[in-house]
Amino acid sequence: MSVVDRHVPQRTCIGCRVRCDQPSLIRLALVRTGHAHDTRIVVDMRRTTHGRGAWIHADAACVEHMLRKKSWMRAFRVSQGMDISELNTLRERITQTDTTLRYRNPHTATDNVVVDTSTGSG
Ligand SMILES: [Zn+2]
Repeated sequence: MSVVDRHVPQRTCIGCRVRCDQPSLIRLALVRTGHAHDTRIVVDMRRTTHGRGAWIHADAACVEHMLRKKSWMRAFRVSQGMDISELNTLRERITQTDTTLRYRNPHTATDNVVVDTSTGSG
C-alpha cells in the first residue's frame, strides 16, 4: 500500500474510459441555451461552467472514440440531436496539432490557481 501525497481528483475519460488525474483531462460541459431542447456541449477549458461535466483526454484517439461511440450521450444523460459542434472543433484542433494539445500553455489553463499554503507550523 502506498500513500498518495498529493491530493489529485481522478476522473474517467469518456473516450478511453481510463481514470486519470483531473488536471490532465479536458472538461466538457453541458450548456442550456434557453429552451429545453436547445442544448449544446462545450469545451470548458477554464473549468468554470456550472452544470454536468464530462472529462476527456486531449488525445485524438479519445476524441475520435467519443464522437464515434457518442459516449457524450451517456456522460451527459442526454439524447441525440444537440449541438456538438464544439466537439468536432476540438477534434480538428487536436488532429491539427498532432495530439500535442496537452496544455502546452499552462498559464491560460490555470487562471485561478489555488496555492495550498497549509503547511504545518512548528
Ligand atoms: Zn482517454
